[in-house]
Amino acid sequence: MTGTETTTVGPVVPVVDDVDTGEFFAAAARGELAVRQCAGCRADLHLPRECCPHCGELSRTWRTVTPRGTLYSWTVVEHQVHPAHPTPYTVVLVELDEAPTVRLLGHLDGRPSLTIGQPMVVEFVDVEGVRLPHWRPAAEEESDHE
Ligand SMILES: [Zn+2]
Repeated sequence: MTGTETTTVGPVVPVVDDVDTGEFFAAAARGELAVRQCAGCRADLHLPRECCPHCGELSRTWRTVTPRGTLYSWTVVEHQVHPAHPTPYTVVLVELDEAPTVRLLGHLDGRPSLTIGQPMVVEFVDVEGVRLPHWRPAAEEESDHE
């Protein structure tokens, strides 16, 4: 490399055509949130896996769920580990309203004020040509939690 070249590093994007997880990203591309489900006992399987740990079934399906959840936990990242992801940022863990055994990770810029159990909603965001579900705190009018 000469002194005049620059390297631009984009954000890390997931593999979207994996046999076990591809439908999650295909659903996101349609603006839907999908959860892997056992075709035998109907347990939600997250992380998606080949065999159901509850009944041993090998057949799986996907089901679409409402893209809403509650904040289970979070942490603020202060040490930058990738040039495309400046700090600080917050990693959230969200429990899905319609699949409470499933918790998905998300990213928020900065250090937002958060409360365990607060309502969260998904926005679908295009990142390097891949449409991804991004969690954000629900606005008051979006919150129908009681
Ligand atoms: Zn099962």
